[in-house]
Amino acid sequence: MTEYVYGTINGLGNTIGNYAVMTMEVPWKLIKDRIGGMPRVVTMVTGLEHNYLDRLVKDLPAVDTVVGVGGGVATDAAKYFAWKRKCSLVLAPTIVSVNAYATPAAAVREPDGRVNYTGSVSPTKVVIDYAAIQAAPRRLNTAGTGDIYSCRTALFDWRLAHEKTGESYDENIATGSQHILDTLVANADEIKNVSEKGIRTLVELNIETNRLQVLAGKARPEEGSEHIFFYTLENLTKREFVHGEVVGTGIFVLTHFQSAEEDNVASVMDRMGLMFRPRDYGITHEQFIDTTVGMKQYAREKKMFFSVLDTVEVSKDDAEKLWRKLSA
Ligand SMILES: [Zn+2]
Repeated sequence: MTEYVYGTINGLGNTIGNYAVMTMEVPWKLIKDRIGGMPRVVTMVTGLEHNYLDRLVKDLPAVDTVVGVGGGVATDAAKYFAWKRKCSLVLAPTIVSVNAYATPAAAVREPDGRVNYTGSVSPTKVVIDYAAIQAAPRRLNTAGTGDIYSCRTALFDWRLAHEKTGESYDENIATGSQHILDTLVANADEIKNVSEKGIRTLVELNIETNRLQVLAGKARPEEGSEHIFFYTLENLTKREFVHGEVVGTGIFVLTHFQSAEEDNVASVMDRMGLMFRPRDYGITHEQFIDTTVGMKQYAREKKMFFSVLDTVEVSKDDAEKLWRKLSA
């Protein structure tokens, strides 16, 4: 069982034996004078390429524990290392927009550029250091709401798939997803302010969404057609985005086709401080239109899960109307 420590990383290094740190410049600076003890080695992780990670596993000295300090890359590198070396793993995420600390597999980039999820490792401890997290740009933390608020559109799609295709559906898990949504919205102000309570809420909801996905044996409780918007845009632009922000755009767009409640959803996302408008992360009008109109076909090509997109037409007019709302 993973122990979650909410507060500070101070003194951790004195309690975990010989340890290595996987991190990056910015997060390491925030905690290196407080972590305690003396790491045997501190590695500034440069990426998640499979060869590179294997080299770290081969070259670094023997340690009892590896500590991952930072965002997704440092976290995944530490997970991979702990899995291969069979040493203890401690994670100290310094932004809460990625949930790598709450999932068992490590993301690894293969030579062809694809990301694979490999291994299974669970940290002995996850340390939520409020000071480090609050030092990060606010939007990187509020972006963590994207992959939680997506339960809203995901639940709609899951129920629709059950109704139209007979796909298995679990009412208890769906109720759990709904509870996640309610908790998220109830804490919108704390989350927007990245207060300690807001941070803790995001972490706990990330853990809970992951738990429900494992229980369901699929991503349905949290992933729906809003992610198809993300995948289509990513494929079209070949660009990297802050995942949760684009998922937020997807929630807005797909809510329009599900229930026409996109204005509602926009005001909730604004209250949480999620930067979900295309201008926030800089895609063009044309890219937005092509993504919105192209989602259906992309989902079909990639044989993705059944969703509202299988039951509606998406016209260029619809896309233009949504763009105007998002640009207002
Ligand atoms: Zn996601």
